[in-house]
Amino acid sequence: MRPDILNPLFVPINSFHGIGPKLFQWLTKLCGDRSKDILWHLPSDVKKRNVLQSFPRQPVLGTIKITVTQHKIPRLKRQPLVVFAVSDLGEVQLIFFHYHVSFLDTKLTLGSTVWVSGTIVPEGEVLKIVHPDYIVNEISQIPQNETIYPLNAGLNGKVIRKLVAQILPTLPDLPEEIDSAFVQQKGWPSWKNALVSLHNPQTEEDLSPCAPARERLAFDELFANQIALHLIRNYQKKQKGKVLLFKNKYKLDLPFQLTSAQERCLKEIREDLSSSSRMNRLLQGDVGSGKTIIALMAALQAVENDTQSAFLAPTDILARQHFEKIQKLCEKFSLNVALLTAREKGKKRDQLLNDLAIGKINILIGTHAILEENVHFKCLGLAVIDEQHRFGVAQRLALIDKEKDSNILVMTATPIPRTLALTAYGDMDISVLDEKPAGRQAIETRVLSLSKVTEVIQHLKTINTQVYWVCPLVAESEKTDLMAAEKRYQALKQIFGNDVGLIHGKMKAEDKEVVMAQFLQKKIKILVSTTVIEVGVDVPAANIMIVEHAERFGLATLHQLRGRVGRGQDKACCVLMHGRLSDIAKERLKILHDSQDGFRIAEADLKLRGAGEVLGLRQSGLPLFCVADIVEHADLLRLANQEAVAFLKEDPLLQTNRGQALKNMLYLFSKDKAIPLLKAG
Ligand code: ADP
Ligand code: MG
Repeated sequence: MRPDILNPLFVPINSFHGIGPKLFQWLTKLCGDRSKDILWHLPSDVKKRNVLQSFPRQPVLGTIKITVTQHKIPRLKRQPLVVFAVSDLGEVQLIFFHYHVSFLDTKLTLGSTVWVSGTIVPEGEVLKIVHPDYIVNEISQIPQNETIYPLNAGLNGKVIRKLVAQILPTLPDLPEEIDSAFVQQKGWPSWKNALVSLHNPQTEEDLSPCAPARERLAFDELFANQIALHLIRNYQKKQKGKVLLFKNKYKLDLPFQLTSAQERCLKEIREDLSSSSRMNRLLQGDVGSGKTIIALMAALQAVENDTQSAFLAPTDILARQHFEKIQKLCEKFSLNVALLTAREKGKKRDQLLNDLAIGKINILIGTHAILEENVHFKCLGLAVIDEQHRFGVAQRLALIDKEKDSNILVMTATPIPRTLALTAYGDMDISVLDEKPAGRQAIETRVLSLSKVTEVIQHLKTINTQVYWVCPLVAESEKTDLMAAEKRYQALKQIFGNDVGLIHGKMKAEDKEVVMAQFLQKKIKILVSTTVIEVGVDVPAANIMIVEHAERFGLATLHQLRGRVGRGQDKACCVLMHGRLSDIAKERLKILHDSQDGFRIAEADLKLRGAGEVLGLRQSGLPLFCVADIVEHADLLRLANQEAVAFLKEDPLLQTNRGQALKNMLYLFSKDKAIPLLKAG
């Protein structure tokens, strides 16, 4: 139950004065429907509203004293209402659209002297103000500072300012949840004072990330985030998992030695599997770092303990590729490896599901189809989720729920900057493959303008290498000016004939597979595609990657695409072709040009674009923060992490006064899903 002291923060905003159904809808869309959501919607700027001292040269926000001389009431409705007035600086005209004439008699009667404030626009000798923000008798009624809020369509700043002005006086004094010595050392205000001052900034500095009020609230938020993640983690640590001992029964014949990073990660996974608590581990490694083989070895450890393994891949192509590889590697063990995608249908599917349920299948590889309700394992020991960023959190949970004590290994090639990992995956243990197999060549990266496309094509004619050609969109999404994959395919076909293939997300799985097989068998030289190939595909002979409109892709995606080549012995090349570039876009492509290190690229991208954009956070289910900025507040995040660990050691059930105060923060920052775990644990 939410503590009563928080009630004023959970008031539906349509119960405040001036918020009708339309505004309610817009505000809800902008930031949320409760009073606390408005408070977390921080100002982006503050503007001075001074009394105008001289005739301005350009439009300016200001205040001026006027005496009304004439009303010009329009005859037609769509014409504006104009009020003529005089001031010390000359003639003034106030312009109103759609206004009821009667308001002239209350606020702007003929001959009256009033203060008006708004954006004042000089036009010749006249000062014009369209819809003044204030028309008042006393100048004291006009605030000198104007707090500016980020807005979306339909809203204006006044609405939010009025709402905030109603909410701030209702704020409770919350008990302090941060260590008081720390608060003092930092010189931070109390929670309430911090909110009040952030919504009433006097200068721009008051809004900067390092302003004490902002830092304080950012810490509140990061602390709540870390506490919630550690509560989930502690809860999960207590969950029993099947004990899967390493017996080394199945020895793979590998044509290579594991890298020492692979050895280390494998050891961590083996230990998790052998223990009686449930494994919940993220294996993070750049493209080509060799995650699949590690996952297979883990799967075999599950199999040698007479349990089954599931292997979930995000696309049909990838599932099939994993299936073929794993089946081949396991041939000599006489194990039963099966594939389940949406395409396994009818009798074959029934048979497969039956075999799975009676335990005849040892390793099941597949797509989302594995998550369907009628898919039952006899005894699922380990579930592997490949390329986790392609799956939502819900899907991860669905697999986790298939069998409550199965172990979970999640894999991702998206290099997650350390700071992001702390906030997003704090509930998992993390193993990092930070080393590539030996003998890999560096990939030459070229950044070229799209105007050079003819030269690129010309060059392709002279060489005998297989090529990926990636376009940003499929023809169906016309509206943009992007070069569609289909158009490019047709153009290349004119030149290369049947040596060109096309693959895109809207094709049927069967058709995709045919094309991929042709590419793998070298029947196709140039494979034109959308980003369907981004994930996991392994075609060692393809050594050139061309990306059209590279500036439209995220850096992580481009890095993944680049990772598709350079898998064989020969020198590989990645050509990033771009349209017109903004400064940031230029910088981003340069990062890619200069570095092959996924972690460095992700960090740099994070700094350039902010967390919201990196990795497409929203769809990947990573949390976004209201107040904290994980780039600016990275140090606070580390502190919050340490503090959360230390605090939960002392008070794991949040029972002390400070623990109770922390619970408040969990509610305020929508982390209260962690609270029921306190009882369950
Ligand atoms: P990813 O981490 O991107 O999923 P994969 O598991 O697909 O990478 O591995 C990429 C390629 O590297 C595969 O062909 C795999 O067989 C090979 N590989 C894996 N580990 C090693 C190693 N230690 N030495 C050499 N090649 C390796
Ligand atoms: Mg992979």
